[in-house]
Amino acid sequence: MSDTIRDTVILGSGCAGLTAAIYTARANLKPLVLEGHEPGGQLSITTLVENFPGWPEGIQGPDLIENMRKQASRFGADFRLGHLATADLTKHPFVLNLGNETIHTRTLIIASGASARWLGLPSEQALIGHGVSSCATCDGFFFSGREIAVVGGGDSAMEEALFLTRFASKVTLIHRRDHFRASRIMLDRAIAHPKIVFMANTVIEEVLGVEQREVTGVRLRDTLTGVESELSVSGLFLGIGHIPNAAMFAGQLDLDEDGYIKTHGNVFTRVPGVYACGDVQDRRYRQAITAAGTGCMAALEAEKYLEEHGR
Ligand code: NAP
Repeated sequence: MSDTIRDTVILGSGCAGLTAAIYTARANLKPLVLEGHEPGGQLSITTLVENFPGWPEGIQGPDLIENMRKQASRFGADFRLGHLATADLTKHPFVLNLGNETIHTRTLIIASGASARWLGLPSEQALIGHGVSSCATCDGFFFSGREIAVVGGGDSAMEEALFLTRFASKVTLIHRRDHFRASRIMLDRAIAHPKIVFMANTVIEEVLGVEQREVTGVRLRDTLTGVESELSVSGLFLGIGHIPNAAMFAGQLDLDEDGYIKTHGNVFTRVPGVYACGDVQDRRYRQAITAAGTGCMAALEAEKYLEEHGR
């Protein structure tokens, strides 16, 4: 059995997971990276990353991820498509069940990130892929010359709205409050853009077009007056944040009220040998560079743990 025991398994292949892979591979731990549901994580579906140090002109998110992946591969990281079904962290080595395969590992680095949040309306769910999308860079192209709506008030919504102006004739940004979480620079860019119109204090009650199987509009409600209205659009893009991918650890690790893995000392979970890094444990910063930073910390701690346990 010892042949099949890994020193380190990394769950997730976004910025945190790939940084952990670079460090653990370079430390000769031959990490196995399980790429997860969304290989490359959120950066792989974003556009220009302007604030990752070392790229004065910015770098495209997918290129940044590809570079990190190559760097990890160069040191011997082993990549595998697949995701975790269940884990038993009460045993050591830990037992990871992938559905068709079981893996044993001495340390586990959880970098499973966070996935797009949906409004949860039945009409929205019915029209995903038929005009409803959470990825402007993936689907924006299909809306050339059309009017679309973006929902949300944070940086993701601003970024999506700005990106979508390349294709759409008009972008209506719908936000449930009149205060925005977005950074000043992103908000100002969106406000200044001639194709973007803001609708504050407005919620979406229904996405229209379920019978036609394509988005034809949205039914809105003004939260101050209660007045309902309809807006004719061909697409609706969600930019309302993300949900951490940690549900599979409920009961085994401490999760906070929104499902983020609770860590102490940045990356330690309550189980020795199990570390969490990146967006699955970070509800505060959620930046590529902080994900990379905690990925590095998790890798160094895993290395230290193995060393202390005679590896
Ligand atoms: P966020 O900052 O949490 O913003 C989410 C937005 O969605 C909020 O305005 C929130 O409204 C709204 N929202 C949440 N649930 C909703 C619902 N059920 N119905 C309607 N609206 C809902 O998330 P984010 O924009 O994804 O940003 C996350 C982090 O990534 C931030 O730290 C951000 O700076 C970073 N980021 C940076 C960039 C960049 O610098 N280029 C780009 C993208 C993201 P309320 O405000 O009312 O809660």
